Amino acid sequence: MSSGTNGSGPAVGSDRDGAAGGSDRDGAAGRSASLAVDGLVAGYGEVIALDGVTVMAGAGSITAVLGANGAGKTTLLRAVSGMIKARRGRILLADHDVAGRSPEQIVRAGIAHVPEGQGVIPELTVEENLRIGMMSWRRGPRAGRVAALEEEYARFKPLADRRRKPASTLSGGERQMLVIARALLARPRVLLLDEPSLGLAPRVMAQVMDLIVQLSRERGLTILLVEQNARSALAIADHGVVLNLGRVVASADAAILATDVALRHHYLGF
Ligand code: ATP
Repeated sequence: MSSGTNGSGPAVGSDRDGAAGGSDRDGAAGRSASLAVDGLVAGYGEVIALDGVTVMAGAGSITAVLGANGAGKTTLLRAVSGMIKARRGRILLADHDVAGRSPEQIVRAGIAHVPEGQGVIPELTVEENLRIGMMSWRRGPRAGRVAALEEEYARFKPLADRRRKPASTLSGGERQMLVIARALLARPRVLLLDEPSLGLAPRVMAQVMDLIVQLSRERGLTILLVEQNARSALAIADHGVVLNLGRVVASADAAILATDVALRHHYLGF
């Protein structure tokens, strides 16, 4: 295989503005941070779903996490966000190890997770769904929350138009916007996206991919993007990591992975 070896991504700790290691969400907002997963072991009971996984994501970069069903992609995001415990290894946000922290602490540290399946609460209004994203905020003036909501409404116009409507009235693409906007309201430095294009029409999927690029370029977010659609993910990613049976089998620049015929044939399905 012509792809690079495990861990060939950008240097760890390469924060864009040099402000690294904050563990407090309020202090974390607006600063890019690298994410380095180092030798991560995690699983479910007897099942070892991640067996020494290393992924280096430079500050403000997009890393596509690819692989067949059951490769361990979702488990990787779950372990980084603290939903399941790392059994071994480190999860460095800038130079700060968050492995073993609770999901709430990890959100506060600056890592937001958008799980697969557009997890909106359909009975709640759009705005009530969005407010959930601010639950990790420490107490502060109401005006700050209102301003944060307005900032997201300015970016996501369809959500602004429907703010008082139940989330059940949204289309698939709008629901995806809602869950991403909700994650942004936690003011993350790292965004974990699990199959954001799943079930969307090609045109809407292209819009979601454009949005991901914007978030990385404009907000300096570091993004781990899990995708079944490897071609689309590699088209927007800086770097790609391919998992197979819980191990990294390739890690290289996205453009290099996209042209690796053997890799595409064996693991990526295009
Ligand atoms: P998919 O694209 O199908 O979601 P994936 O690459 O995200 O695949 P994971 O969902 O992370 O893969 O699964 C990795 C391994 O862990 C698989 O062997 C899977 O069967 C197993 N697994 C996932 N969730 C659980 C669970 N809740 N309990 C037990 N085993 C699980």
